[in-house]
Amino acid sequence: MMLPLTDPLLLVFVALLALTLGSFLNVVIARLPVMLSRQWTLEAHQTLALTSSTQTQTQTQTQTTYNLLVPRSRCPECDTTIAWHDNIPLVGYLKRRGRCAQCQGHISVQYPLVEAASLALVLWVVWLHGLTFTGLAFALAGLTLLTLAVIDLRTLLLPDVLTLPLLWGGLLYQSTAHPDRLAESVIGAAAGYSIAWGFYWLFRLATGKEGLGRGDFKLLAALGAWCGWQSLPLILVLSATAGAVLGIILQLLLPRLRGAPMPFGPFLSAAGMLVLLGGDRVIELYYTVIGLSSI
Ligand SMILES: [Zn+2]
Repeated sequence: MMLPLTDPLLLVFVALLALTLGSFLNVVIARLPVMLSRQWTLEAHQTLALTSSTQTQTQTQTQTTYNLLVPRSRCPECDTTIAWHDNIPLVGYLKRRGRCAQCQGHISVQYPLVEAASLALVLWVVWLHGLTFTGLAFALAGLTLLTLAVIDLRTLLLPDVLTLPLLWGGLLYQSTAHPDRLAESVIGAAAGYSIAWGFYWLFRLATGKEGLGRGDFKLLAALGAWCGWQSLPLILVLSATAGAVLGIILQLLLPRLRGAPMPFGPFLSAAGMLVLLGGDRVIELYYTVIGLSSI
């Protein structure tokens, strides 16, 4: 049953929930790579059985609690804990005009942008699918893709703790909502992984460089699970074209970027979001172009 969002109170509730989720995504984006890096350092030291001062230093570093809940948000410049009223999604940033209340240090525009993108994404999905199982599933998938895109942009990482649940989530969603399309979804996951893996090795053998990261294999597998194997060519063409065009423009404008590795995850995520959340028109247009009958 589809619950249309005609009730203004319900709409406000969904919008507030979306902004709160956006604020949480900012925490994940900022902290998850640091948490993973700490864990890898600790594991590396344990594996290499390093002793003396290096180990003590690492232990002190990794023993202070640092997760998605602790410590509270702090200013990156002066380390002051940010007051709750300055931490309200969008409002806090606008109120302080992007500056820390204590030291007037610059706060990244990424925070309000991720919150605004989460709000737009959730409202768009709910407008298309209402408060349904599909609406909930697509909103979660879209928010995960947004998180992955920003993490990859900042750190060139696509953490397994996000790509793998996204993959399983896609298979589970299809098996529950569209059992008749489960095969397309499973083939999509396997094909997505294999295509990215094949491209990685071909590129590596031809140029000696890594054209894709290993996280991209799992991300394309997840998109295959959510969208079905038929959508993979569209996702690949869209992401590769967007990546190439933006890459050329950036290198022309900023020559210092020449030769710097460029993340592909943001382009895959954006193309995946467009196909998954773009509604039936995108898919119908695509099927018309490639001559498949719409499902
Ligand atoms: Zn500050």
